[in-house]
Amino acid sequence: MTFRILILGGTSEARELANRLAGQRWLETTVSLAGRTKDPAAHAVPMRHGGFGGIKGLVRHLVENRIDLLIDATHPFARRISVNAAAAATRAGTEAFALVRPAWAPRPGDAWHVHADIASAVGALGPERRRVFAPLGRQELHPLTSAPHHFYLVRSVDPVDPPLPLPEVRYLIARGPFSEEAEVEMLESHRIQAIIAKNSGGDASYAKLAAARRLGVPVYMVARPEYRGLPAVETVDEAIARIRHRVPPDAWRGA
Ligand code: NAP
Repeated sequence: MTFRILILGGTSEARELANRLAGQRWLETTVSLAGRTKDPAAHAVPMRHGGFGGIKGLVRHLVENRIDLLIDATHPFARRISVNAAAAATRAGTEAFALVRPAWAPRPGDAWHVHADIASAVGALGPERRRVFAPLGRQELHPLTSAPHHFYLVRSVDPVDPPLPLPEVRYLIARGPFSEEAEVEMLESHRIQAIIAKNSGGDASYAKLAAARRLGVPVYMVARPEYRGLPAVETVDEAIARIRHRVPPDAWRGA
């Protein structure tokens, strides 16, 4: 018996899940990445890279590769692939669920202003020049150009190329996780007065919010898109439990 799993990845949870499934001899697990990051983190299972070609392409992939279970473990802000995954699973008749980390909630001392998208968060920074930290993806930075009077500190995994047409911008290339101490130091050394962040959830990028709370820096928080479409679990342990349910008990090795 072979049980074929396709994980739509691009998150630390997808990587952790894949690594925990790697040693299971009954399972054939593949992780799919969009191919955005130049040097993606290694996974302990085979990987494929690049889009499928919309819903149709994903249906074809599921059928041709005889996938038994599709797990959408993409980032909460990667909406299109999640919509496609739900539609393709239905059309192909493939069992599917999503692994979505819970959103962050404000804690006492946080100064959050919640916005529906990045453009609205940028607009809310106001007419006075501010020093703004923008830990956003390369493809998401365009709205910053609508408010060129601010100084921006942009942090991304890969270099921003071409650079933004902004008079005052500095780039940090870094991949999390980050410690709270390091984030405090970074915000202080750049004299940051506001942060634009997406409500991604999870531990890997939470430290900037703890640091902002400590320093009293306001956060312009972009709420995550609501739609997922598939039944969802929130943790890797829950995902493992669901998968274990689908294979014979003696097929599972270890915890
Ligand atoms: P998106 O807008 O939802 O998807 C755009 C297209 O990229 C999809 O229609 C699909 O192309 C392809 N795609 C996306 N994820 C894929 C995957 N795991 N495997 C194969 N193809 C994929 O996605 P996005 O927001 O650009 O994010 C791209 C990837 O980066 C995702 O895998 C996500 O997990 C990761 N990521 C995103 C964010 C974020 O904030 N958006 C943050 C961290 C990591 P086709 O239609 O051709 O199949």
